Amino acid sequence: MGKLAITGGSRLRNEAFTAWPLSTKEEAAALEDVLNSGKWGGQPFPGKHATSFAKKFAEVHTAKYAQCVNTGTVAIQASLKAIGIRPGDEVIVPAYTWEGTVGPVLLMNAVPVFVDIDPDTYCLDAKLIEQAITPKTKAILPVHLGMRFADMDEILRLAKKHNLKVVEDCAHAHGGMWKGKGAGSMGDLGAFSFQSSKLITSGEGGAVITNNLEYMELVQSYINAGRASLTDQFHHRIIGFNYRMGEFQAAVLGPQLDRLPQQSALRENNMQHFESRLKDTPGIGLLKPDPRITRLAPYGYVVKYFADQAKGTPRAAFVAALQLEGIPCDGLFYEPVYKSSLFPLDSADFPALSWGRDKALDLRNMYFCPEADKAAYEEAIWFPHQHFLGTSADVDAIADGIHKVLANSEELRELDHKAIRNQKLGRADRES
Ligand SMILES: *Cc1c(COP(=O)(O)O)cnc(C)c1O
Repeated sequence: MGKLAITGGSRLRNEAFTAWPLSTKEEAAALEDVLNSGKWGGQPFPGKHATSFAKKFAEVHTAKYAQCVNTGTVAIQASLKAIGIRPGDEVIVPAYTWEGTVGPVLLMNAVPVFVDIDPDTYCLDAKLIEQAITPKTKAILPVHLGMRFADMDEILRLAKKHNLKVVEDCAHAHGGMWKGKGAGSMGDLGAFSFQSSKLITSGEGGAVITNNLEYMELVQSYINAGRASLTDQFHHRIIGFNYRMGEFQAAVLGPQLDRLPQQSALRENNMQHFESRLKDTPGIGLLKPDPRITRLAPYGYVVKYFADQAKGTPRAAFVAALQLEGIPCDGLFYEPVYKSSLFPLDSADFPALSWGRDKALDLRNMYFCPEADKAAYEEAIWFPHQHFLGTSADVDAIADGIHKVLANSEELRELDHKAIRNQKLGRADRES
């Protein structure tokens, strides 16, 4: 298949893949409408574009209500507020996710309890939840990570059995369906992000969906500086902040939601082609399909890399070689959150970590989640979703790149060993 670009061969792919975000004249017209209206903010609450988008967004996800907010992390925080998470409560989270899943838990002075992931899906392993439940557990916060769903059947069963709330982190799952039900509509609330990389984006933004009017009212009050909600049937008044979405942001979301079904279909087609090119490739594993996922919402295409089937070449070397072939991808995309640079935490900032204990919980050093470790440091390779919005030739280039690098595993491993040796020599030189 030719010499690798990393060892001086020619690069497999020179053209760029589909860029993200995409926009059309629809977005431009909507932005101009906001500009001319003079109503740029989210106040008076809610804005015209935010309202019409939220209505459609709820429908697409088979939920009754939706509320736009200013980020995805705020969507999680507002959801936790709505279900009544209080300081010291425990919230079960997956070990392998973006730190943004866990930050809101800590900011409410609640305690995240990390549970390992299912190697078939890279999502929260429902089989391990029960052993993590304590009298302080109040909620489960599954993430529909990458291109799969957490096992909502089992999570909802456990939540009912133990009287827990469920907030779905749907930052990767716009338009996704589980047994015909929209992502975020099965738990008590679903939290979405519209940050730049997501499947629908306003640059920054988020939304909360729910079927429960009381939760919706709490969310609306919380994100609108404590003001009364739009319906105000439950008369909640809570200390909140200005977490509203502005109208410029809301304006660009509507056209993207309209395009989502067509983009989803194209992505799914291209991903099927990708799978047909990768199946039975030693060194590469695919996530297990789950027939309960009735509409795919892939934030990225995630494959498993098996170094032991690729002459022992570490993932970092494989990813670096693939990138130099002109195929953008990422290996260490997420870490087990408790191993991230956010930790250790200063327990003075998070007092609940020491309540009722002699010593504050040391979240960085109290967990071992082998599957999260394996995904984070050895196996997972993420390809951006937008690269599957192009032609089948684009997909072939990604697959060809993988095959090319695998075919040169031996040489790549030697190069990697040499680089490590040189690095060590370099260090010794400097030290002497
Ligand atoms: C993006 C993301 C978030 C947070 O969204 P922001 O809009 O960046 O605040 C939360 N969870 C996951 C899994 C994400 O990918």
